[in-house]
Amino acid sequence: MRSYCAKTHEFAPFEPWRGWHLSCRRVPGAMRARASRCYDAPDMAEDIDRLRSSYEAQVRTLGERLARRERELSALSEMASEVHSTESAQSVFEIALDKVREKLGVSAAWILVGEEGEKKLQLVAARGVSEAYLEDVRRNGLSECLCREVFWSGHSMQARNTTQCPRMPDIVDGSDPSTAHASIPMRFRGGSRGVLNVASRSGTLFTEGELRFLETLGHQIGLAVERARRGEAERQRHEEARSAYRELRAAQERIIESEKMALLGTFAAGLAHEIRNPLNSIALQLSVIERRNARLESDMGIRELISIIREEVSRLDALAGDFLQFSRADRVQQGLADLNDVVEHVVRLLEPQSVDCGVSLAYERPEQLPPLPIDGEKMKQVLINLVRNAIEAMPDGGRITVRVELHDDVAVLSVEDTGPGLPEGIDIFQLFVTTKPGGTGLGLSIARQIVAQHGGVISAEPAPGGGARFAITLPLAPKEAQP
Ligand code: ADP
Repeated sequence: MRSYCAKTHEFAPFEPWRGWHLSCRRVPGAMRARASRCYDAPDMAEDIDRLRSSYEAQVRTLGERLARRERELSALSEMASEVHSTESAQSVFEIALDKVREKLGVSAAWILVGEEGEKKLQLVAARGVSEAYLEDVRRNGLSECLCREVFWSGHSMQARNTTQCPRMPDIVDGSDPSTAHASIPMRFRGGSRGVLNVASRSGTLFTEGELRFLETLGHQIGLAVERARRGEAERQRHEEARSAYRELRAAQERIIESEKMALLGTFAAGLAHEIRNPLNSIALQLSVIERRNARLESDMGIRELISIIREEVSRLDALAGDFLQFSRADRVQQGLADLNDVVEHVVRLLEPQSVDCGVSLAYERPEQLPPLPIDGEKMKQVLINLVRNAIEAMPDGGRITVRVELHDDVAVLSVEDTGPGLPEGIDIFQLFVTTKPGGTGLGLSIARQIVAQHGGVISAEPAPGGGARFAITLPLAPKEAQP
């Protein structure tokens, strides 16, 4: 049989021949005295009453403790299921803080995370923390404080007031001197750790139970973050695989397209050549007719007919020329050339045409531009095409800006206009795609082919102020190849 000490809440063996409490070191003097004498009936009744009420008190305390524990456990299981249900590590932190505030009714909570090897802790989520503190941590990192100790030691700590943690008044606006705060360590896989900080209601210390609750929650956050990070890494791997697949598909399509182009090019070259010969002969014959017609007394409208035929012949000749250029697009002679010279040449060439159409043509050149690994003549061809398209898009006048910008390892040549903008729903770089009555839809296909042969990319997008913007991104020459 064991006896119970209501004062110390300890159990001791019952020794009837010596009375109660003998084994209890903290037994009060009066009782100790009574223990040495024999019991009479009233004494025994009195002790039994005392014993009963002490048992009842103990049962009540245990009941309350059990109820509290049950509340903690249900709060914890609710929080655990919420933090485990999210897919991102950041949401785990955010949910955990909201729940801590809701369940413990605390004024502020915040989480810091860092790598074991590094000395820097980062604030990843915060609730009820002052703006000034957030700004300070963002700018200067975390200065000396309790969190660092908890981070390194891996043990929970509680600052009982703002004297023990002098940073608290900066962290929580209006916190009074009695505000305590608890720092709970968290561990994630792969050498990273964190600290969960909770500021208590002022004047209240965290109880043992609350600290245990926070520690269990810290553990749950660690597990949930790990799970979410694994999920994030998995999703990233999937996304990478998907984008590698997309790139592969695009590369495959480009190969098919360039094979198609090569085939078409050979065919176009042959056809253009065959067309141009009879066209030349028609043009020659027209000159003869013209000369003979000049000798006749009556013209009978022949001169006008000749001029119409000549116009059509030259249109066909230009078309055949386009086809020939298209077929020769693979013959890029890559040396080092000055892109500024290319642009200035094209601007001089097309200025008269742009002036005729009421279009201003400006070139914004970079301060410095190294020679680029380009075929100058082919680049001229591309640029002429883009500028001509822009002029044609603005029959009532407008503005064209040609720009060259130098970035880390690329140069970007762009042509921007103030015209009506790009047609919607069609791929204007596709062969034979045109919206112009007399267009061939060859220009941009040729441009794309030439740019691709330079290892570059051409793209079209709406210009910032309306109109269209074409941009050609070209790689710079390797450093050792630059003069
Ligand atoms: P084409 O000039 O013979 O039509 P392109 O391949 O050069 O052939 O151009 C294809 C189409 O792209 C044009 O018909 C036009 O619809 C569109 N386009 C090209 N440049 C511009 C521009 N600057 N503004 C608006 N649309 C343009």
